[in-house]
Amino acid sequence: MNMDAPAEKEKRMCIVCEKEQEDGLEIWGEFICRSCENEMVNTNVEDKKYPFFIRQMRQIWLKKNA
Ligand SMILES: [Zn+2]
Repeated sequence: MNMDAPAEKEKRMCIVCEKEQEDGLEIWGEFICRSCENEMVNTNVEDKKYPFFIRQMRQIWLKKNA
């Protein structure tokens, strides 16, 4: 085993920004990157972006329950 090689992290496509990211979390089998997670946490309900996040989350939920 070559210890000099950096650990190859698996990149996954974020369901919110649709970019390939390494860091993030998995919700219901779908991936949300770290920056989107932070943004969602810090987004106020009155924020214009909030409905977008809800819609993306809903997509995950709908897929899960299809
Ligand atoms: Zn993202």
